[in-house]
Amino acid sequence: MSETAGQQVSESASQQVSTSADKPLAPGLYLVATPIGNLEDITLRALRVLRSVDRIACEDTRQTAKLLGHFGIRTPTVSYHLHNENARASELIETLRAGGRIAVVSDAGMPGIADPGATIAAEAIAAGIDVFPIPGANAALSALIASGLPSEHFSFHGFLPAKEGQRRSALETLRAAMTEATTTHIVYETPHRVIDALADVVVVFGPEQRIVLARELTKLHEEFLRGTASEVLAELRSRPSVRGEMVLLFAGGPTGETADNQTPAGQPTLAKEVAALMIGEKLSEMDALKRVAKTRGIGKSEAYREWQRSQTRRR
Ligand code: SAM
Repeated sequence: MSETAGQQVSESASQQVSTSADKPLAPGLYLVATPIGNLEDITLRALRVLRSVDRIACEDTRQTAKLLGHFGIRTPTVSYHLHNENARASELIETLRAGGRIAVVSDAGMPGIADPGATIAAEAIAAGIDVFPIPGANAALSALIASGLPSEHFSFHGFLPAKEGQRRSALETLRAAMTEATTTHIVYETPHRVIDALADVVVVFGPEQRIVLARELTKLHEEFLRGTASEVLAELRSRPSVRGEMVLLFAGGPTGETADNQTPAGQPTLAKEVAALMIGEKLSEMDALKRVAKTRGIGKSEAYREWQRSQTRRR
């Protein structure tokens, strides 16, 4: 064979393009990515699959009806969401066993990524049914590639917990795991919780933690806020309201702190903890000092003296 590997790849790719669009769709389960805001992000293949399958299993049939209506697709839909995932999966597997072709879509982005999809994929595989990914939009990866943070290694953690105590523990676990400066960490967040979540980030990681908040990706008001946790928090607090869908990214490694605000063991200094509480929780200087003294098991005056020394050093 005189062909190079590159030629073989491009030839087989072009054969696939010309043949797969003409052939009837093979039986199996199709996990189809849909746009995360901008309808232009649907792929030609996704449209063909959605038109050709026997049924589309949707996280929310009303939401998907809008997408299908926009593209003139009339394939029947069935609901498939967190609350009926197990029962509905068994039903859909029966259809697939009989040679059916089913697409799974979520409200937006990739099924299975912070959305239903993984359970039915696993069940289909266990039943010997072919599972086909139909790639497309995803909020975490879209945010990552335009964040300016390292993208070679990254770690995705889904949504941060809604409750403060659980969220702080999750952030503490994340902080402990953040040893590699080259790994970016990604979480999903909601507009009504983001300010509280960022306040917790300031407390747990310190005000200097570098973050990126990617908002309304692919939409009219797409925005990237890049800076330290305290800067991004201040920016959001200054706005009359915070809206839209958002992804929060953390620069990896020790949080960009200078040696000055860490103890030799890498723990935050008292001054840093006090500053974090003042910015993150809007505590007064005195309340922040009292809280830190209590958690460290030291007297208030000792905490105050240490705080004064650190302020003098800064001047
Ligand atoms: N399966 C989706 C994906 O592949 O990205 C994620 C679904 S999850 C239920 C929804 C969350 O994804 C939102 O709360 C937000 O954190 C993030 N998200 C979805 N669309 C977004 C967008 N256009 N801009 C920013 N974040 C988005």
